[in-house]
Formats: sequence, C-alpha cells, structure tokens
Amino acid sequence: MKKIAKSSGKKIPVLNHKSISTRAIHAGEPREKYADSLMTPIIQTSTFTFKNSKAIEDYTKKGKEHFEYGRYGNPTAKIAEARLADLEGAEDCVVFTSGMSAITTTILSLVQSGDHIVITDDSYKKTLEFCKSYLKQFAVDCTIVPFGDYDLIERAVKKNTRFIFSESPTNPYLNIFDLVKIKKIAAKHKILTLIDSTFSTPVNQRPIEFGMDLVLQSATKYLAGHNDILAGAVLGKTELIEKIRDLHKSMGGLIDPHCCYLLLRGLKTFPLRVKRQNESALIIAEFLEKHPCVRRVYYPFLKSHPHYQVAKEQMTGGGGVVTFDIKGTVKTAKRFMDALKLCYIGPSLGGVETLITHPALVSYYDYTRKARYKLGITDTLFRLAVGIEDVEDIIEDLERGFKAGLRG
Ligand SMILES: *Cc1c(COP(=O)(O)O)cnc(C)c1O
Repeated sequence: MKKIAKSSGKKIPVLNHKSISTRAIHAGEPREKYADSLMTPIIQTSTFTFKNSKAIEDYTKKGKEHFEYGRYGNPTAKIAEARLADLEGAEDCVVFTSGMSAITTTILSLVQSGDHIVITDDSYKKTLEFCKSYLKQFAVDCTIVPFGDYDLIERAVKKNTRFIFSESPTNPYLNIFDLVKIKKIAAKHKILTLIDSTFSTPVNQRPIEFGMDLVLQSATKYLAGHNDILAGAVLGKTELIEKIRDLHKSMGGLIDPHCCYLLLRGLKTFPLRVKRQNESALIIAEFLEKHPCVRRVYYPFLKSHPHYQVAKEQMTGGGGVVTFDIKGTVKTAKRFMDALKLCYIGPSLGGVETLITHPALVSYYDYTRKARYKLGITDTLFRLAVGIEDVEDIIEDLERGFKAGLRG
C-alpha cells in the first residue's frame, strides 16, 4: 500500500494490485472503516468539526489533513476520487455532479481571455456548444477541426492555443482518435491534450498511458453503470487537478455523498460489466453486419470500421455501443423501433439495461434533413447501447424489430 498525493482531507491508501477487477472493488478505501463497516460509509454532512483550537491551527498552519466544509471535500467523495484515479492510472481526480460539470469546470480552469483552443467536430454536442458559444463571452477563441484530419488539427494550433480537446470513441460513429499522433502534435507545440474517454472507460483505454494530460469521464455512463445517477470526473497530474479542484470549490456544484456511494458501488462491478458489454456488442455488431435489413454497421472492433487498426492498437475492447443504419425509410425505422420489447428507447449508454436511440428523432430533431444528412445522421440510423442482458435475448429483440420493419 502506498499513499497518494494529498489534496484535501485525509490521505487515502491506494491498492497496488495489477488486476483492474480487484482494484475496482478495493482501491481508494481504507481497510478499516467506521464501526467496522465493510461498506464505505456515506458521510452525509455539510460540515466537519475541530476538537479544539490546536486542531484548527494544525490544519490551517501546519497543513495537517482535515475535512472542513462540504464544498471543499467530503470523505465519501474522496474515496470515489482515489478509486477512479487508481483505475485510470492518474495521479489525482476530482468528481463532479455530472460529466458536463467536469468538462466545463476543467476548461474554465485552463483558459483566460485571449487564449485559443482546438476541438474536434464530433465531440459531445454540449461540449462543442460550450466551446463555440459560451467561451466567446470570455474572449476565448475556438477552432473546430474535422475529426481525423491531423494535418488540419496541427495547422489550427496558434501561439495562444492552450489545448486540444477530443473524444474517443465518438458519438455516434465511434470514430477513434489517434492518441499517439495527437500527443506528437501537442508535444511539438507545447499544448495540453484533453480527452473525453467516456465511451471507452479505463477497462478499454487508458489515455494517460498515451501521454494525454487530462481525461474526462461522464461517470453517469459505464463507471456508475446503473442508469440511476449523474456524475463526472477529471483525472490527471496533481498540479493540473489542483487548479481544477480550486475552481470547483468556487463554482460549487459539488457531488453529494450519497451519489458518491452509488458511484463507488457501481464501480465494484464495472470491469465485469464492461467486459460483458464488449463481448455482447461485438457479437451484435457481427450479427448486424450480416443482416439483410442492415445497410451499414459502425463498431471499432469490426474490420470494416475505418479506424479498426488504431482501435486495436490503443483499446483492449471495442466498448458497448454499436451504431447501425438500416435499409428503408424513416417509416421502416419507426416500425423497427416500435416493435422492440426488451431494448428501451432512450438516450444515454453504459448502464445494465440495453438502450436504443434514433439520433434523427432525438438529438438532431431540430436540424433540417439536409443539415442532418451532412453530419451523416440519416433517417434510419440507430445507436444501440448494449446492456448486460443475455446477448441472445437482445438479438431476438432486434430480429423482432427487423421483421416489423419489413412489414408495411
Ligand atoms: C454523457 C456524456 C457527456 C456528459 O455527461 P453527463 O454526465 O450527462 O453530464 C460527455 N461526454 C460524453 C462522451 C458523454 O457520453
């Protein structure tokens, strides 16, 4: 057992165990817990007390670790942070109320007016929106570059560029960002690299090992994994994380201890779930690729995927999301979707329940058909977020959908 760098509150031991399955259960928590509890206690308090004036001075003057006030840190959150940092192979971590809270707070902590940032065009819609519109209010300039064009990315870098932000895999086409290439560009120009790794998770991809400076996670998805909480995290070197933590204390959107408990609970089964989702998603992707009703399938671990090679080099599993375009019209798509009895129609991903979304009807409902098609969001495109049900049952459900689609 070794200690991790302190940030706020007590030092948490880190388990030096190789297996991610073991670390997902034990890392970050002290072995001896309050009242000999096996589970990490939910420390549901907004404030912490000091025994006497000496305890205050030990804390303020001598830097002795002590929790002070809920907005500055909480023991349950601290354990969630230590566990996530361990899993991602990062020095430190801050947890947030949502993935977007992690992303926006991180970005704001890194830029000042006059700065410039580069972001790839198929990043998460709200992240793009934030960079495009809100950062302008602070005179931070943003260049949106096409995903996969590394020359254009490099040419977009200016003297005042602070960082490159991207995602891998992306939504909905599961494009893979080449972390080796991007690291080279960033190192040459001395800029930071930020990567939203929500779709891959530390089971499938560990961006820190590729030299990425900050990893962002919507823990709402695979990490918590039960479609019951919103949470987010940023991970990286202590020096950067401390700056983000400081801003977070002022922004104030602190995650509550009960939510951290649910995140910790979800994390225990997270490698198990993701491995199952990897396996099922690959089986489903192969099933869909052979299916006569399907026009095209996008899955990083299918040889037909344009980024198959990079995916194989930087990921150990293809993830739990499969995107596919079916033959027919929007009417076929609606009949297909309406006939499903197991898969729920809904956004999000990474939970135990299989979810299906029709991006044209949901995320892009306010786009014209022409604008949508320009982005590749066709009338018949679906994104399947595979859960942990039996894969045969999911396939049977999809087959039911295809049969209904053919009718009419
Ligand atoms: C869901 C998601 C987010 C936002 O996370 P929230 O927890 O919903 O705020 C950011 N990036 C990606 C890739 C996501 O899938």
